[in-house]
Amino acid sequence: PKLVYDFAEGNKDMLELLGGKGANLAEMTNLGLPVPPGFTISAEACKVYLATGSVPAELADEIDHHVDALQQKMGKKLGQADDPLLVSVRSGAAVSMPGMMETVLNVGLNDDSVNGLAHQSGNPRFAWDAYRRLIQMFGKTVLGMEGDVFEDAIEAAKQAKGTTNDLDLDADDLEALVDTFKAAVREHTGRDFPQDPREQLDLATEAVFGSWNSERAILYRRQERIAADLGTAVSVCSMVFGNLGMDSGTGVAFTRDPSSGQPGVYGDYLQNAQGEDVVAGIRNTVPLADLEQIDKTSYDALMEIMATLEGHYKDLCDIEFTVERGKLWMLQTRVGKRTAAAAFRIATSLVDEGMIDTDEALKRVKGAQLAQLMFPRFDSDASKELITKAIGASPGAASGKVVFTSAAAVEAADRGEKVILVRRETNPDDLHGMIAAQGILTSRGGKTSHAAVVARGMGKTCVCGAEELDVNVAAEKVTVNGTTFGPGEMISIDGTTGEVFLGEVPVVPSPVVQYFEGSLAPDAGDELVASVHRLMTHADEIRRLGVRTNADTADDAARARRFGAQGIGLCRTEHMFLGERRESVERLILSENDAERDAALAELEPLQRGDFLELLEAMDGLPVTIRLIDPPLHEFLPSMEDLAVKVALAKERGEEPGHEVKLLAAVQRLHEQNPMLGLRGVRLGLMIPGLFAMQVRAIASAAAELRKAGKDPRPEIMIPLVGAIQELQLARDEVEGVLNEVAEASGVEWSTPIGTMIELPRAAVIADQIAEAADFFSFGTNDLTQTTWGFSRDDVEGSFFSRYLEKGIFAVSPFESIDREGVGSLIRTGVERGRATRPDLKLGICGEHGGDPDSIHFFHEVGLDYVSCSPFRIPVARLEAGRATL
Ligand code: ADP
Ligand code: MG
Ligand code: MG
Repeated sequence: PKLVYDFAEGNKDMLELLGGKGANLAEMTNLGLPVPPGFTISAEACKVYLATGSVPAELADEIDHHVDALQQKMGKKLGQADDPLLVSVRSGAAVSMPGMMETVLNVGLNDDSVNGLAHQSGNPRFAWDAYRRLIQMFGKTVLGMEGDVFEDAIEAAKQAKGTTNDLDLDADDLEALVDTFKAAVREHTGRDFPQDPREQLDLATEAVFGSWNSERAILYRRQERIAADLGTAVSVCSMVFGNLGMDSGTGVAFTRDPSSGQPGVYGDYLQNAQGEDVVAGIRNTVPLADLEQIDKTSYDALMEIMATLEGHYKDLCDIEFTVERGKLWMLQTRVGKRTAAAAFRIATSLVDEGMIDTDEALKRVKGAQLAQLMFPRFDSDASKELITKAIGASPGAASGKVVFTSAAAVEAADRGEKVILVRRETNPDDLHGMIAAQGILTSRGGKTSHAAVVARGMGKTCVCGAEELDVNVAAEKVTVNGTTFGPGEMISIDGTTGEVFLGEVPVVPSPVVQYFEGSLAPDAGDELVASVHRLMTHADEIRRLGVRTNADTADDAARARRFGAQGIGLCRTEHMFLGERRESVERLILSENDAERDAALAELEPLQRGDFLELLEAMDGLPVTIRLIDPPLHEFLPSMEDLAVKVALAKERGEEPGHEVKLLAAVQRLHEQNPMLGLRGVRLGLMIPGLFAMQVRAIASAAAELRKAGKDPRPEIMIPLVGAIQELQLARDEVEGVLNEVAEASGVEWSTPIGTMIELPRAAVIADQIAEAADFFSFGTNDLTQTTWGFSRDDVEGSFFSRYLEKGIFAVSPFESIDREGVGSLIRTGVERGRATRPDLKLGICGEHGGDPDSIHFFHEVGLDYVSCSPFRIPVARLEAGRATL
């Protein structure tokens, strides 16, 4: 197969082969935009390299061929002594992983050609700077040297010169630095810096391939759930130079503001610099708008190209460009990352601009982004101590203790502490710390700095470019306008406004939550809320899945209803047995005869009835699925250890521990090796006479009372943990008996659906039988996952799951996102067999997966009628249910 593609041979859809960078360089080339010529080595070659440790045998010939063509086009050769062709060797995977892999610039320079470049450019300083950059990048990336070796040498050169600015180093200084760098290479690797340009190119290519498996790239992929086997392509691109003088420069640009989504171009520019200087935040950039003054011709050309790109990609594009002596070159573009707020605003703006339709707009926003918009904001009325205001690079309101290193961030997070990572700038090695921190604060760099880009990608709060902060990592302190703070001190950062506060600032609900709550109208002038409203409305119009909530209290039910819940999919009645009611439950468990048991149940019944009254009223007119008691009864008793200690202590004091002794005996009697697989669910109902009946009487009489009052209560009764049709039939007979009794006694008649949970593999497999006695199924995916995998969630999540994730046994915990192959297959079976018996069987799901976007798409596919999730996830579920239809 072909392994190398000229830029003119590819296009934007060849992502898998050419990586995002290569595919889009090709696309731009074919659009006629000014891209420096080059070619891309496909990710297939990388896969071979990763698997075997060497590149495919036929690669060298193909590269030769493309290098020849490139040399011809450019009229100069790699390493040519009087006028060398230089190239960059750039990583680029199908999925963007900003800054995670390596790139080497200025490949092709050596001791001879550096003089040619000096002569050709008429700028020896530039030539020596390019050469020292090559050795530095090559040393770090290809030869595995520590960056400090080089940075310390630069620092020393600047100090000797009495300056802090890179630009003050002249040609002689840089030539001396090159000598120092070369000596360092020899010392650290035992060999000389390779002078053969082709060897440089090959080694750099292999290093880029290898960087796919660098620690930080692996970590990033895990965090972003990117497949481990894609591999990276390598784009070889002829160099253009932004560091030829003040009439040159380099920049990054966005066709819209990636943090707010507002229209209008946006970006950073740096004169007399090479590309990596911008992202590294080494010097402070100027806003892109300033380029208009600096170089109007290039600015106008860039504006035109940006408009072309937006029109072509029909989305926000981000761009890397370089100006070489007044000539604009495009070095990269891609559909850009954006904040959650920007995603919504851009999607609806593009609809208004006629570029996309509303379906497409809905595809472009995600439930996870909506969830982010629902996070609280800082309370604007709270008293706050503002220490500085900088660039809001990634929105959110984060408070935490100051830490200066990634290691400290990780340690503190492991202790359960919230931290803010404070740095001058971040680099890719800070990824661990950025993940662990609540937020990131840097004193340098703009919206396109490493910190900003990575934080936005992760949805982490970030404030950057806080130049007033003097961050001294070595001394572990920050000084700002006379105030000094250090590790452990609490600060708060606002990633929207860029404000930094001392102390912990209280938070209030976000405008988007206020909108869902109904306290902020969609047309009240908040553009983000207006966008959210439009897309939510569209999602509601096109979705087939209903969305219900898991709620046990009237408050939760009412909130969920405001958020758009169409009923309750799961009310857990055991929550109603806690608190002061525990005593009645204890009496029930300790009862020694029918009379004592009935008395205890009689105490509980009015309490339950009261709960149901409130709940049914809050959900008036909508279905309320009530699950009869599910957990093993000893969960309501104190722990065996506590009781044993109490009894022993009492005995020691010579007291008579009557009650505790009885309880201890009961706990011992009820003790189970595997409570999850023990006396619970329907088994309890069948073993403890009167328990289910009490609950059903409470439900039915509450409903009767509401009916009499002219309301429209719609309870549905759900029997948990059924594995055999006989269990369900027995329970159903009892429930129907009680329903009839109450109907007769109250004189009110209505029909109450009776259904079951499908949470045991057996139930899914014999769903055709179970459906004989069920009006509805609700897939209890938490238990179904536990019982299918044989995992006890509480035991495994904290112990070996992280290793399982590392080893790739699963990409995401099956408790978080439905395991389509295993658990999902049982759900499919349950749906098919259940509906075969009873075509009108109502089907829902009430596990935590009900709020997980990926799982929701699956439930849509298998044809469920509704998902049920916690109140706060309702908007996310509505949005994703809509997206699932597209
Ligand atoms: P990343 O994926 O980390 O952005 P890139 O391959 O895009 O890595 O390159 C790093 C920097 O070098 C970018 O700023 C880019 O614009 C610049 N660059 C890459 N190739 C060239 C080139 N041929 N000429 C000039 N600058 C380049
Ligand atoms: Mg780039
Ligand atoms: Mg269960």
